Amino acid sequence: MSDELLRSALGAVIETVRAHADLLTELDSAIGDGDHGYNMKRGCDAAAEKLDALSAEPLPRALQTFGMTLVSKIGGASGPLYGTLFMTAGKALGDGPYDAAALVAALDAGVEGVAARGKSTAGEKTMLDVLMPVAATLKDGVARGDDVPALCARARKAADEGLEATRAMTATKGRAAFLGDRSAGHLDPGAQSSNLIVHAVCNAMEES
Ligand code: ADP
Ligand code: MG
Repeated sequence: MSDELLRSALGAVIETVRAHADLLTELDSAIGDGDHGYNMKRGCDAAAEKLDALSAEPLPRALQTFGMTLVSKIGGASGPLYGTLFMTAGKALGDGPYDAAALVAALDAGVEGVAARGKSTAGEKTMLDVLMPVAATLKDGVARGDDVPALCARARKAADEGLEATRAMTATKGRAAFLGDRSAGHLDPGAQSSNLIVHAVCNAMEES
């Protein structure tokens, strides 16, 4: 992965989160405390300020710095979880080359890190309902030798289906769990932000 691709991928993530902050807040108002959009935007605003420096770092370090920036700026449950996602993925990357297999293995490690940190798994109406199926289908795709467009198509589909699946779920983790059955019928805000991040990274990958 080149510095340019890293920059455009991080830039795309920052941009989409900023553009959809109101949507994330609206979703979190229905089943949480209404701060997810604000939280995510704060983290991305801080990352945007260091985008030049971030994109000049080697990929493993850049991901760790991005994760640390998110942890320090995003309040609430999602800060440490997204921080863990990027920091763990960064640590899992070796010296390169950063081919599809290496990137997918790093993503998988990051998602496992989120599950460990959140003591959570798929089916609990969280960001993991997007992140876990995306990581799983990408592992399958890499094993089959899929090219980047095919991998992106898989990731987008899994992200969209994973997000939509949270609508019917009853939350058992995070603030939404306090609502019990009343959490059903709404999309999970963290699953929505993860969906946006997956789409943004895929768009950047395909454009490069
Ligand atoms: P808070 O819930 O503290 O207000 P946010 O609103 O920023 O934090 O983030 C809420 C999102 O965090 C939820 O929609 C859910 O996707 C995610 N989340 C919360 N707890 C967990 C957990 N234990 N594991 C995975 N994701 C979680
Ligand atoms: Mg919240």
